[in-house]
Formats: sequence, C-alpha cells, structure tokens
Amino acid sequence: MEKTFVVEHLDPELGPWSTLEYACIARESHARGARFLLSSVPAELQMPADLAATKGLEVEQRSVEEIFADRKDKVCLLDPSAQTELSPQDGDHFEVFLFGGILGDDPPRDRTSELRKKGYVGRRLGPKQMTTDTAVRVTRMVVHEKVPLEEIPYVDYPELQINEHERTEMPFRYVKDAEEKPIMPDGMVALINKDADKSLDDLF
Ligand code: SAH
Repeated sequence: MEKTFVVEHLDPELGPWSTLEYACIARESHARGARFLLSSVPAELQMPADLAATKGLEVEQRSVEEIFADRKDKVCLLDPSAQTELSPQDGDHFEVFLFGGILGDDPPRDRTSELRKKGYVGRRLGPKQMTTDTAVRVTRMVVHEKVPLEEIPYVDYPELQINEHERTEMPFRYVKDAEEKPIMPDGMVALINKDADKSLDDLF
C-alpha cells in the first residue's frame, strides 16, 4: 500500500535551508513511489519557484489534523522523544508518517511537541537528531525497504570543509552513501559554503 509522508510546516517562513530539504524529499519520494505532502503552508507564503516546480511536491494549506481527521490512528509521528523505535512492522499498520517541518536546532528545542500534543502515536529513529530529509529517508528505508533501524549505515556529526582553513561540524545524524559520505540535499554544501561567514544558527 502506498505510504504518505507528511511534513507539517511549522515555521512562518520557508528559508533556503528548508527549501533544499523539501525539494530533496519530493524528488526522492517521487522516484520511489511514495506520496509527499507539505502541509500547513500559509496561503500568503511565497513558495520559492524552484521548489514549487519540483516533481513530487504536493502543497496543502490544511493541517495534517484536517487532512487525516478520519484516520488519525493510521498516522505515525516521528518523534525524537518517543519511547518506541520505528520498526519495519510499523509499515504494516501505519499509512501516514508525519514529520515536523522545523529546522534542526542545536541543542534541540523539542518543537516536535507541537505535533505530539495532537495525540498521534510516536516512534523514534534512534537517539540522535536528524535533519528532516534524513528522518524521511530513514523512515522510508525502514517501512518500505524493511531495513531495521540499526542496520542503516549512518554518519554522525560530519565535518564539512568550508574553505582552506575552516571546517564546520554538522550537529546531526545522516545516512551514509556508497562512498561513505553523508547524504545531503543537492545544493546544501554550496549553501553552507556560501554562508560560511554566517553561523549555522542563522542558516537554520
Ligand atoms: N529540533 C527539532 C527537531 C528537528 S528535526 C525539535 O526540537 O523537535 C525535524 C523532524 O525530523 C522532527 O520533527 C521529527 O519528525 C524528525 N526527526 C529528527 N530526528 C529524529 C529522531 N531521532 N527520531 C524521530 N524523529 C526525528
């Protein structure tokens, strides 16, 4: 059965970082036969043109609560504070996987709580904070490809070379590709390099 991955956008703005993450989720979902919904997008929000044109992106002004009001028990919230880890069997029961469209922050401010208090069943993806696109990627690997969470190859807190002299540590867990590199959205390394003089906090 086709799964729906929903990112509930929780920020008033949609900055360059989120734009790259959402476009990446849309492309990967489209390529793998999964549905991707970006929900709670304010009507007045100006969607960046590149993002709006990305295949696989469905934009909804309604919130996840409204869209899936009739099947709340089929929605699983990916929640860094949940007591139970996500397992391949969860793919047999849940139809909708819900993520917070919030920028990672370090230390985490637990903004996922905005979705938790709506009463969804929660599952954790291990103890480390992931970027939203990583969380969607890992969830898809677990529930579609049935790979247990602990068998996914990860790289934690990778360092990026900003220029000759500077490196910056990304405070997140990523999935590792065949070349042992962290998988990041297209354009993300360039964005980080471009804004190397800003702190990562400003970028988020
Ligand atoms: N700093 C935010 C988390 C941002 S990560 C906070 O304080 O809540 C964006 C989204 O990715 C989260 O809302 C959650 O849905 C998902 N996510 C990231 N890491 C996760 C983990 N280890 N377990 C479960 N979900 C995770």
